[in-house]
Amino acid sequence: MRDTYTCQRHDATTGNQDSEAVSVVIVGAGPTGLTVGNLLGMAGIDTLIVERNASLSDYPKAISLDDEGLRICQALGLESAMSKSILLNISAHYVSAGRLLAKVAPSSKRNGHPLISTFNQPEFETALLEGLKRFECVNVRFQSNVESFEQTDSRVIVTIRTPTGTLQTVTCSYLLACDGGRSTVRQKLNIPMKGTTFAQKWLVIDAISAEDPPPIAMFFCNPGRPAVTVPSPHKGRRWEFMLLPGETEKEMLSKRTYCCPDPASWRFCQFHDYSQNGLYFSLNAS
Ligand SMILES: Cc1cc2nc3c(=O)[nH]c(=O)nc-3n(C[C@H](O)[C@H](O)[C@H](O)COP(=O)(O)OP(=O)(O)OC[C@H]3O[C@@H](n4cnc5c(N)ncnc54)[C@H](O)[C@@H]3O)c2cc1C
Repeated sequence: MRDTYTCQRHDATTGNQDSEAVSVVIVGAGPTGLTVGNLLGMAGIDTLIVERNASLSDYPKAISLDDEGLRICQALGLESAMSKSILLNISAHYVSAGRLLAKVAPSSKRNGHPLISTFNQPEFETALLEGLKRFECVNVRFQSNVESFEQTDSRVIVTIRTPTGTLQTVTCSYLLACDGGRSTVRQKLNIPMKGTTFAQKWLVIDAISAEDPPPIAMFFCNPGRPAVTVPSPHKGRRWEFMLLPGETEKEMLSKRTYCCPDPASWRFCQFHDYSQNGLYFSLNAS
């Protein structure tokens, strides 16, 4: 595949031995940075992706993927590589007090793909990273932190802390801030975050069951404890429970039976993350 893409190398040099020049520097190797890296690779544009972590994230964060997302995977030529980490065509059932209130099963394929699917974010990111191997003009550097940058009329000079702790400058025409919701690039440019987030905290649990769950998300419309469960690839199932006012995450973790209809068939696997809006861990079938 690699041979089918021609790369345009950037000629500019800065005269500094520790510096290099590329057309585009992408900050962050999350799904956004890796996707843009693949798109730029297909266009033959020399690109450097800089990621401060030592490897890709192994947190199964995002779970829902819409038809636009699938269309982008198709455009990247990675649809088949990603298919094993995607569960296509999810419908939703809304239940209350044991009664089915509504079924939502979108049949439209406006983009040629189902409207709602679920996926495994770490596998998805791995497929995107693998996809980058097709392009000689796209490089990824882990354990490299973008510390600062400076804009001139024609370029951006980026200062990167390398894995050995030294500082390196890279000159580029475009710097893409794919550095997540708490983007430091955005903050340094004084660009405010638009939009809002949910006020409530939720407990998020990923479990693996013995059998493939049906492709149905269940919303439990219980004002006493709103909850949702969503099937995911590889016999996965996510459970989300809203924390009530005054409840602590620690308390919820100690009530593990909330999360497992049959606790004996599950074992606590791994505490994953404690984030602002959710407490996050995984369960594996025992
Ligand atoms: C429990 C949970 C459930 C979620 N569910 C969904 C969902 O269903 N659907 C959905 O769309 N989203 C969901 N999300 C959010 C989703 O995970 C994020 O939207 C997604 O990861 C964003 O991708 P990104 O590439 O923009 O940013 P990130 O994944 O945050 O990646 C940014 C990367 O930039 C790196 N970085 C940051 N600063 C620097 C720097 N200075 N130098 C170098 N590297 C840097 C970070 O290390 C990170 O790897 C969920 C999140 C959580 C926690």
